[in-house]
Amino acid sequence: MKPSFYDLNYSDLEMIINQNNLNSSAATVLFNWHYKKKENTQCLNKIAKCSADFFQNNFDFSLPEIDTVYESKKDRTVKFLFKLKDQHKVETVLIPFNNKYSICLSSQVGCAMNCSFCFTGKQGLKRNLTTSEIVGQFLQAWRWLANNRAGEERILNIVFMGQGEPLHNFDAVKKACEIFLSKHGTSIGVQKITISTAGYIPGLKRWSQEIPRVNLALSLHSPFEEKRNQLIPINKKYPLDEVLEIIDKIPLNKKQFITYEYILIKDFNDSPEDAEKLGAILAGKSAYINLIPFNSFPESHYQCPDVDKIENFKAVLDTFKIPTLIRGAKGDDVLAACGQLNSKNKIAIEC
Ligand code: SAH
Repeated sequence: MKPSFYDLNYSDLEMIINQNNLNSSAATVLFNWHYKKKENTQCLNKIAKCSADFFQNNFDFSLPEIDTVYESKKDRTVKFLFKLKDQHKVETVLIPFNNKYSICLSSQVGCAMNCSFCFTGKQGLKRNLTTSEIVGQFLQAWRWLANNRAGEERILNIVFMGQGEPLHNFDAVKKACEIFLSKHGTSIGVQKITISTAGYIPGLKRWSQEIPRVNLALSLHSPFEEKRNQLIPINKKYPLDEVLEIIDKIPLNKKQFITYEYILIKDFNDSPEDAEKLGAILAGKSAYINLIPFNSFPESHYQCPDVDKIENFKAVLDTFKIPTLIRGAKGDDVLAACGQLNSKNKIAIEC
């Protein structure tokens, strides 16, 4: 099987061109063609025939296939079910804001973290995604927009909050970020990419050296060790205080902050005492809190708190002067909201 072109970052491509004595301009032209213009045809423009043939003969240019598209009736959220070459499936979500979109990418087929509130975790980990499968979700979603919502193909933010633990697949996620950031290609600003982690310390230790300036979101969910163990089993191996200690050392620029995600679960972690403790551990940090009312999924045993409880929780955090947002659930009618992704669960919604 040929290697995928979409597994190469710009310096890999330059190296291959160099080693094969091809014209050095081919790297810029190819990145421009496939990532800036997002063409899926062979690049024959402004490139020597021998270079074009070399890549066509030696690399695979196919992308994950779109199996099913679910369009929300409530908002403009779109969920894609992708079929991979080995028949595994993953999901990707386009989340609308002001006629633009954020894209929520998956990084693994399933997930090994087994968080008790998350639908994806119920699948277990099947395998890591390759860089081309990660980058491919973006390119295919962009093309779908171009074909189906012409003029709306503006994907401005990338969040790694889909299926999988991105830091558990560090190398592929890192390379995908390098491709997204490349000024020769999609040229996404570093401040527009966010990686969310359950607190996987081996990946966090590599962060400052290898993916500095990308935004980090931590799924915190409880400031209490015992409760967090119940929600996120890897907390037993990588406890919150150690996670926070590492995160505190990540250099941030002036306008940057760490996002702390907090799922609110009825009668579990939604009391004023929980909010007090959360505020106390985050006060003084460059922090932003995202409160995510629990999104239910088939067979979930947790519930979402009432609106009053959610607002009271936020009011306590406000006393600590930590910016806090209550995240609305977009696309929940097509199970596209946080934690509802599970590619084994095919729901009967018209496309
Ligand atoms: N593994 C990574 C990224 C995937 S989850 C992580 O843990 O951060 C992305 C976000 O969705 C996380 O904050 C996660 O905790 C949240 N989430 C998972 N299940 C959810 C659910 N049922 N309701 C609301 N949010 C959920």
